[in-house]
This record gives sequence, C-alpha cells and structure tokens, in this order.
Amino acid sequence: MNLRYRRAIAPMLRAAAPRHSACQHCGWPWSRVVPRSVTYEERETSSSGIFFVCTDCWPLLTAAEAIKYACRTVLGYGPAGMRHTAWDQSTGVTAVLAVAKEMGASQVEESHLPL
Ligand SMILES: [Zn+2]
Repeated sequence: MNLRYRRAIAPMLRAAAPRHSACQHCGWPWSRVVPRSVTYEERETSSSGIFFVCTDCWPLLTAAEAIKYACRTVLGYGPAGMRHTAWDQSTGVTAVLAVAKEMGASQVEESHLPL
C-alpha cells in the first residue's frame, strides 16, 4: 500500500484507536502496524529501544527525517498533535544519536540536536 494512500486514511484509523499513538511517517496507529525499534542501550539481560515509525515506513526515511522524528519522540510529540511525556534529556540524546548512527549519519553531534 503506497504512502500517499496510507496517509489519506490514517486519520480514520487513528479515530478508531484513540488511545494508541501512531507512526510519525504514515500516521497509522500502533494497533495496525509494527513499530521499527532502534536499540540505544544494551544490558546483560535486556535492552532499551526507541521507535517512531513502522516497519513499512522505515526503508522510506532519509536520515534527516529519522532524526527529526526521533527528536519529536523524545521531546514528547507524536503525529497529529498527540502529546506524550518527554524523555529525560540524557536518555533522549543517547537514543537520537543511536538513530543517527543506524541511519549512517554518525557525524551528527549532540550539540546539533534540538534537545
Ligand atoms: Zn508508518
């Protein structure tokens, strides 16, 4: 299903799932798509990840888009004005830098992030 169509019907899908947040690229609620997670911290028995788009949208993203969406996520903003709790700053920076690295934008530095 192409992105234009997915975005066109996203508001209806979100209205039907008002308690779910959504993919920041296509707008589909997490009840309808699978999130694509980026691991930013590995521990012995667990790990932590950040997700902001679905597995269908991930291959379509530019590095700039991925970093923009990751910043919005840690600042507490979702699509369509949905508001969530912001992350603590050092964890947010770590997560966004992990996204930049995975997107091949490893030259991004903490001082360049709007966090
Ligand atoms: Zn998506």
